[in-house]
Amino acid sequence: MNKRFHIQTMGCQMNEYDSDFLAQSLIKNGFLPEKDVHRADIILINTCAVRAKPEQKACSFLGRMADLKEKNPELIVGMIGCLAQMKGKELMRRFPLLDFVMGPRELGHILESVEGIIRERQRLVQTALDKVPPSPVKCTGYFQNRTSGFISIMEGCNNFCSYCIVPYVRGREFFRAPEDILEEARYLISEGIREITLLGQNVNSYVWKETQNKWNFSSLLHELAALDDLLRLRFTTSHPKDLSDDLLACFANIEKLAGHIHLPFQAGSNRILKSMRRGYTREQYLAIIEKIKTCDEDIAITSDVMVGFPGETEEDFQFTLDLIEHVEFDALFSFKYSDREGTPAAEMSEKISENVKIARLQRLQDIQNGITLKKNQRLVGRQMTVLVEGASKKGEQLTGRTSSNKVVNFDGDVTLAGRLVEVTVKASYLNSLKGEIIG
Ligand code: SF4
Repeated sequence: MNKRFHIQTMGCQMNEYDSDFLAQSLIKNGFLPEKDVHRADIILINTCAVRAKPEQKACSFLGRMADLKEKNPELIVGMIGCLAQMKGKELMRRFPLLDFVMGPRELGHILESVEGIIRERQRLVQTALDKVPPSPVKCTGYFQNRTSGFISIMEGCNNFCSYCIVPYVRGREFFRAPEDILEEARYLISEGIREITLLGQNVNSYVWKETQNKWNFSSLLHELAALDDLLRLRFTTSHPKDLSDDLLACFANIEKLAGHIHLPFQAGSNRILKSMRRGYTREQYLAIIEKIKTCDEDIAITSDVMVGFPGETEEDFQFTLDLIEHVEFDALFSFKYSDREGTPAAEMSEKISENVKIARLQRLQDIQNGITLKKNQRLVGRQMTVLVEGASKKGEQLTGRTSSNKVVNFDGDVTLAGRLVEVTVKASYLNSLKGEIIG
């Protein structure tokens, strides 16, 4: 009887992309996807290690699987992803219910590992980092009813920001060949995908020198945008140090390129930016923002920011708030700093207390929410082009995104999924807009 698998995906879009790879690999070999974890024969937890909170979340989920394993000793439980890479062996000791741990660079072995465990019931630790990420698999029909899809164009990071675990769990920068990326895009489009988001820890550092013609991120964007039936192209995440004029010109020259850029700044104080080893100053970051706004004032800018980095004074924090009020981001992903074992910042002194971190995060989010509401309010009455994704979460309406990555909910027929429609913005909220289809 075909075994049923359930994948619990935590963390970033790269993990969602990896989970799609795992699911397609298993389905192509006769395993059946199972939404209900209680009915699964194989449970895979795809994890994140970027902060303490997602680590706790993964471990508590794992703990809740102990009952299922007790009732069904044949159940296979595997931990995948960044936390598996970071703490593989330790987790195997701590959680006897675990059958295997597998790092992001070992995903290509998922099938032989699962089949090996079914046959021999051996426990496995697979966390080599020197492997190239696996090539995508094609599982016809897998992306049915989806409008948007991801393509990883690179993996890993060479920047070693002092607080970040990514270079230690995702490895050195690895760039995929442009032809492989184009091939994957053609496959997704043939499956009905109309919007593609290019993924990488530093997508704008993409470069390919193996062929006569050298490729960089801009040339890749132009080639992808030329594909028929692709309606929209997005990318994330960018690093300020690699944002070229070439790339900015793409926003003006490539119609399919969405008018949104995610550009993490992390802190507003030069002293803290230096301690974070971010590789730019506040002034340099603001100059880039100026360039983007000059290029097109409608480009939405979002970012990541951290509070409570070791040594952060009230004055440093004030620089962060000033920067946020100056730039007026469309949205911010804001977090409390937490030690990541093995990173230089974890060894730093002058750690900030949890209460101070919580208070600073609240002050920051209050300011940013006010800015986001004000910016969304300014869109009321505007006509915007929306790519319809399908039924909204509540199911009563349709939902989709503007080029500037704003979620819009509106009445309409679900057959519009995958198409661009014009809507008038009727009302605005913190995380979404209410629209009305024109015509
Ligand atoms: S750029 Fe810095 S924060 Fe981003 S993944 Fe690399 S090391 Fe981490």
